[in-house]
Amino acid sequence: MNTIFDYGLADWEAWTKSKGVPKYRAAQIYSFCSKGVQDLDRMQNLPLDLRKAIREDFVLPVLTLQQEFRSENDGTRKFVFRLHDGHIIETVAMWYKTGVSVCISSQSGCRMGCSFCASAAAGFGRNLTPGEMLGQITVVADLIGERIRSVVVMGIGEPFDNYDNLIAFLHMANAPEGLNLGARHITVSTCGLVPQMLEFMHVNLQVNLSVSLHAPDDRLRAELMPAARIYTLKELIDACRRYTEETGRRITFEYSLFSGVNDNPEQARALYSLLRGVHCHVNLIAANEFPGSAYHRSSSERVRSFQEILEKLGMNVTLRREMGSDIQAACGQLRRGIQERETI
Ligand code: SF4
Repeated sequence: MNTIFDYGLADWEAWTKSKGVPKYRAAQIYSFCSKGVQDLDRMQNLPLDLRKAIREDFVLPVLTLQQEFRSENDGTRKFVFRLHDGHIIETVAMWYKTGVSVCISSQSGCRMGCSFCASAAAGFGRNLTPGEMLGQITVVADLIGERIRSVVVMGIGEPFDNYDNLIAFLHMANAPEGLNLGARHITVSTCGLVPQMLEFMHVNLQVNLSVSLHAPDDRLRAELMPAARIYTLKELIDACRRYTEETGRRITFEYSLFSGVNDNPEQARALYSLLRGVHCHVNLIAANEFPGSAYHRSSSERVRSFQEILEKLGMNVTLRREMGSDIQAACGQLRRGIQERETI
């Protein structure tokens, strides 16, 4: 059964037609869905029998708010949602000078197994449908009462491991008659699945691509990110080069700094050599730690010196502060906690 958020306007038109309901009702239903409304009692302008038909044909509610956390430090709000079949996901709303950015999950759990990641530690549940991805944006907008300016697909899961649903979601988010979120305001983050990256460059959307590197050499990268055992850095960077040349768009490389692991000056210089000539931007991240992790965040001096080396070499680099450090906002921490409690 579909969720109400998985239907576009044309789908609702087909559905209302099949029910013998006038076409204008489709636009009314779709308008509610685009605003994250999943309580049929709030769809006051729909007749009761139509609401009953929706209840019978669709999964409702799509996302049930399980817990919410607010950061005392920076106002970040983290939402833990339960899907209709019990799976848990996390969505984060962050306030920037430019507006609200929402970080959404693309899967419940993740198969990629990155050794520093709480999502991997909690195992894999299932892929999210396009509507479950879209619903995180609209339901959060409804909860916070604000317009969402940008979206990053950087929460739980590897988006390219759920490729078809991701592409369908991006088209839905971008649809002028729906959420109408500009493609340039959407960023997809991958751990570096090369075939999907090459396919993604032919998708006709100006979406930003971000690639998690976290290491400047194959040995360390494979240790941190098992996916790197399949695709070498040479294959990955060649694919990135092709991507930037064919799309004309810059790639962002994410590099989380872990104390004593990937944060020494030689590694900064190796990173520069690796990326030299690629149309890119490097985002250094002082990562949030999670309990039980073998990795610790680099000291601020170490982070600063890593950044300075790259800057002096002429690299385009920024330092991204992880938001919500006091509310376990690193991806997957809350889902892991809930799953652990529920299996006790
Ligand atoms: S860092 Fe991303 S790709 Fe790696 S395990 Fe975590 S969610 Fe998956």
